[in-house]
Amino acid sequence: MGLTQRLYLFTVAGFGLMIIVFSILFWSWKSLNIAMEKVDYTQRVGEVVDQLQLHIFTRQGALSHQKSDTWLTEQKRFTEVISSAPALTAQQQTLQNSIMSQNGSLIILFKQIQQLSDQYTHNKIEAHLNVRLLTQIELIREDCLQLASSAESSLRYIMRKLFYMLALVLVLTFCGLTWGVIDVSRVFKSSIKDIQYGISDILDGNYKKIKLSKKSSEFSEFVEKFNAMSKQLAETTVSRDSLQALVEGRTEALRIISNTDPLTNIANRRALYERGEIEFSRTKRHPFKLALLMIDCDFFKKVNDSYGHLVGDQVLQQLCRTFEKEIRDVDFLARYGGEEFVILLPHCEEGGAIETAKRLQLALKNAPLLINKISLNVTISIGIAINEDKYATFEALLNDADNALFVAKNNGRNRFEIADSRLNNQTN
Ligand code: GH3
Ligand code: MG
Ligand code: MG
Repeated sequence: MGLTQRLYLFTVAGFGLMIIVFSILFWSWKSLNIAMEKVDYTQRVGEVVDQLQLHIFTRQGALSHQKSDTWLTEQKRFTEVISSAPALTAQQQTLQNSIMSQNGSLIILFKQIQQLSDQYTHNKIEAHLNVRLLTQIELIREDCLQLASSAESSLRYIMRKLFYMLALVLVLTFCGLTWGVIDVSRVFKSSIKDIQYGISDILDGNYKKIKLSKKSSEFSEFVEKFNAMSKQLAETTVSRDSLQALVEGRTEALRIISNTDPLTNIANRRALYERGEIEFSRTKRHPFKLALLMIDCDFFKKVNDSYGHLVGDQVLQQLCRTFEKEIRDVDFLARYGGEEFVILLPHCEEGGAIETAKRLQLALKNAPLLINKISLNVTISIGIAINEDKYATFEALLNDADNALFVAKNNGRNRFEIADSRLNNQTN
């Protein structure tokens, strides 16, 4: 059941209880009025009876006309009072009937006393009749008291009944209201808790569906829409992630392309400068040397001219594979341009650089390149430069290696030269 329906139900139940309370009050008011009328009636009867009794006690001697008139007036009033009795119960009606018949006796007795006083008879008979009159009045008083007691007890009964009924209605109202408030607050509390957990999950990147532990149409509708939103969010987030991965992949591919020579598949000049700057600046912070080999193919033009550019291209490719085999993992091979290559040798002194240069030249000597079944003896000239304090920039180091290469070319090719070194004019 929804919260709105629950509230409607409580309102209708509240109205129902109010109608019950008003009905009880109305019924009680009517019953109380009747009971009060009865009490009032018994009081009036009692008062007139008192008057009649007083009249008998104050009578002295024979009944005078004046006294007789007073009695008759009182008696008439008494008859009127008992004729105006309210609606009575069967038991009370019996008492009422008794009072009425006693009143009849009173009238007869008084008439008899009146006749006796008219005839001036003996006072003893009149006294006897007076005693009977008094007895009669006493009987009426007794009935009247009984009637009053009955009226009062019915008044008390109504009051008690009213109290119990109102107490019962109030207890029911209290219990109903308490149950209603607890029920509604439980739905609210648990639903808000479920939604809070759901939101926390989504914030943690966990796109789970929210499930309500207590069902209510209002929260169910809200959660349904929330779950749809969360699903949509999960889908767009996944595509955003894959898009990011795609962009990262493409960026990396572009970075590799922009740093790679397409023919030989080794680092290009741009990558050489980037790496060269890093290695050069590292030597400024650490006490080790960086050696640089500048390599150039001897008489490469002849290869192109004799076998064509395609063969020349394959020569360049195979040269790179040979260089890669002969250098360490930490070394860095790059195509400087045309048929010129540079190898960076970090942590390498002059001796290590010479050794590497010799190894490269020896490898080409021992294993001539085989292209399209043509065996080609390719030689290389190498210029070596070792980083020292005098080099302010990487470019200066590169330039000195180029100078050394120039010297090697001039000195006959297929050899290496060291820039500004004692070991110039080395040949393999
Ligand atoms: P040396 O260096 O010994 O003085 O003689 P060389 O013939 O190598 O001289 P040079 O540097 O003038 O010639 C280099 C040639 O390399 C010229 C050019 O056509 C050729 N070359 C440059 N790049 C490529 C390339 O990518 N592929 C091919 N097949 N040839 C290239
Ligand atoms: Mg050359
Ligand atoms: Mg050249």
